[in-house]
Amino acid sequence: MRFDVITLFPDLFREFLAAGIVGRAVEKRIVEVMLHDLRSHGDGAYRKVDDTPYGGGGGMVLLAGPLSRCLDGAQAAVSGRGRVVLMSPQGRPLDQATCRRLAREPRLLLVCGRYEGIDERFVETRVDEEVSIGDYVLSGGELPAMVLMEALARLLPGALGDATAADRDSFSGRLLDHPHYTRPEVFEGRGVPGVLLSGDHAAVERWRAEEARRITRRKRPDLLATEAGGDPGAERDQQAGPSSDRTRDDAMAKRADRPDAAQRGRS
Ligand code: SAM
Repeated sequence: MRFDVITLFPDLFREFLAAGIVGRAVEKRIVEVMLHDLRSHGDGAYRKVDDTPYGGGGGMVLLAGPLSRCLDGAQAAVSGRGRVVLMSPQGRPLDQATCRRLAREPRLLLVCGRYEGIDERFVETRVDEEVSIGDYVLSGGELPAMVLMEALARLLPGALGDATAADRDSFSGRLLDHPHYTRPEVFEGRGVPGVLLSGDHAAVERWRAEEARRITRRKRPDLLATEAGGDPGAERDQQAGPSSDRTRDDAMAKRADRPDAAQRGRS
């Protein structure tokens, strides 16, 4: 998959593109990223990319001309027009379904806004869709673009060390992920659920499925409620959330053979 990123701050991406899952995806050529410096398409000797808004008011607006030249140049650089995504707080809030849909695109051009925003005529003539990473406002589209790239890279075949890991993540189905544990077996008096130490793979899978459901009911009952007819257990479990957690913690602490741990878990 190829990303073309239109930004005033290409340097912000360099560490990000060299590290972690994204770095490995770039290295393995699962993901190709071209950074396009909007400044180099600016107007005049000073490479102007913004101006004051018509109608007055504070702040600056990114000019449609430099944005269009930069984007059109990026589109023309390789054959096959890519889908143009504007990072914008006004866009559709990003979710896993949108990530899955966008991960099927062979090529995305991500436009990072700055300042008060960008000239609306650029949006009307060039942008295929607007994506928001949440109902809050950042100073630029660079972090949102990185969020989107990382979320998509995880879904691409070969990007994750464990090919099935993304399928088990929260939001891959309608449930959140189950809890995870690693060494040591006892941490500050709290043990690991016994089933995970049992070697019984079927029992582990059952436990994980039950825990995913319990956690979803407690943390995000809305995910279950969106199913046809909703989930009558969701509300009940949510109300019971903290205390049913305590019950589980107590049981785990007891398993850790630390009689005092259950009490400490309550503090
Ligand atoms: N005046 C704009 C508004 O209220 O809709 C906000 C502009 S914001 C300060 C500057 C740029 O940051 C936007 O053009 C966009 O590219 C990016 N941005 C800010 N918040 C974002 C979000 N939640 N999701 C995606 N992009 C965002």
